[in-house]
Amino acid sequence: MKNLYILGACGSIGTQTLDIVRNNPHDFKVIGMSVGSNLELAKKLILEFEPEIVCFRKEEHIFPLTYEAKIVYGDAGLIEVAKFSRYKDEWLVNALVGVAGLEPTVRAIEAKKNIALANKETLVVGGDLINDLIAKYQVKLLPIDSEHSAILQCLAGEQHHEVKKLIITASGGSFRNLSREELANVTVADALRHPNWSMGSKITIDSATMMNKGFEVIEAHYLFNVDYANITTVLHYESIVHSLVEYNDGSIKAVLGVSDMHIPIAYALYYPNHHSLNAEPLNLIDLQLNFKELSLKRYPCLAYAYQALTKGGLYLAVLNAANEAAVYLFLKEKISFLEIEHIIDREINKDIYERNYVPSLEERLKISKEVYDDILLEYGVRI
Ligand code: NAD
Ligand code: MG
Repeated sequence: MKNLYILGACGSIGTQTLDIVRNNPHDFKVIGMSVGSNLELAKKLILEFEPEIVCFRKEEHIFPLTYEAKIVYGDAGLIEVAKFSRYKDEWLVNALVGVAGLEPTVRAIEAKKNIALANKETLVVGGDLINDLIAKYQVKLLPIDSEHSAILQCLAGEQHHEVKKLIITASGGSFRNLSREELANVTVADALRHPNWSMGSKITIDSATMMNKGFEVIEAHYLFNVDYANITTVLHYESIVHSLVEYNDGSIKAVLGVSDMHIPIAYALYYPNHHSLNAEPLNLIDLQLNFKELSLKRYPCLAYAYQALTKGGLYLAVLNAANEAAVYLFLKEKISFLEIEHIIDREINKDIYERNYVPSLEERLKISKEVYDDILLEYGVRI
C-alpha cells in the first residue's frame, strides 16, 4: 500500500492520478491533497478520498468537512502537506504548475517521501539541488511525463556509458502547421487546441511555443545524468513514439503507445512494473510514423533552453520565470503569441547574473519571484 500526497489534485494530472487510485483501492491510499479554485470538484474529491490533510488554494475557499482532517491553505499549506508524515512508503505526486512546485518537492524529500514528479518546473529551476537531495535522503524520484517515462523504460537493464543519445519526440503543438509569419495573429483559443493531448492551459501553451520541449531537455539532463549535448529532439506529429534512446552500437530503443497520461502516471506509481490499465490498445496495422527535423529557427524557445543550460547559475530560474510570466500575460490577452518568445529572449540575454555556480534554493525562489513580478508590472498587471 502506497500512501499518496497529491498536490494539484483537481488538475489534469491530479485527476488522472486519482482515476488510478480509484481503480486500485488496495494499492493506494490518499493521505494528503491540495485542491485549486474549482471548488465543486475539490469538494467531490475530498469527500471521496477523505485525506487526512487538505490544502486549499486560498483561506476563503475553505469549507467545513464532514470528517476529521487537518486543513491548511496557500503556499505555506503546500509545504505542510509536503512535510506531513505518518506512514511508511509515502509518495508525493507533484502535479502543480510552475515554480510553485519546487519548494514542496524539496520539503517532501527532506521528509523522506518518494516523488512522482509531473511538475517539470521543479527540475528546470532546481534539478541539481533535487539530485543532491534524493541522494542524501535516499528517496526515489520518478517522472510523470510521457517522454521521460519512455526514456526510463528504454534505459532499463542498460549501461549508462553505452548510451549515445536521448531522442525526445515533440508533437509540434497547436501551431505545427503554421509558418512563423502566420503565428503573428494567433489567438489564445487557437493555442489551447492541442492536436494530440488534453492538458492544463500552461503546458498547452508551452507545447505551442516548444518551451515545453526545452524544459523536457533540461528535465532529461537531470533525471538521467546525460550531457545536454547528447539530448536531441525530433518532431513526431503522431505522438505514438514517446521518446527513444540510441546506444553506441547504433541500435535504438523506443517506447510506443497511445497518447494517454494514465500510462506514464501508472508507470511512476508502480515502477518498475507495468500494472494493468484499461488503456486503449495501439493499432499497429494502420500506424503511420513520421519524423521531421525540429528547427530552432521555427521554435526559438528550444534554443533558449539550451542557452540557459549552458549559462547555468540563475539562468534556468530566469528562463522559467520569464516563461511563466509571458504565458500568463498571453493567456490574459495582454501580449501576442510571439511576444512570449521576445520576453524570454530578452530576460535570458541580460548579462547580469553570475554564470555556472550553484545558487541556493532561496536565491532561485527570490529571482523567480522578482523576474515574474517585474514582467507582470511592466504590462500593468497587478500581482
Ligand atoms: P493543470 O493546470 O491542469 O492543473 C494544475 C493544478 O495545480 C490545478 O488544479 C491548480 O489549481 C493547481 N495549482 C497550480 N498552481 C498552484 C499554486 N501555486 N498553488 C496551489 N495550487 C496550484 O496542469 P496539468 O496539466 O495537470 O500540469 C501539471 C504539471 O504536470 C505541469 O508542470 C505540467 O507541465 C506537467 N505535465 C502535464 C502533463 C499533462 O498531460 N497534463 C503532461 C506532462 C507533464
Ligand atoms: Mg511531455
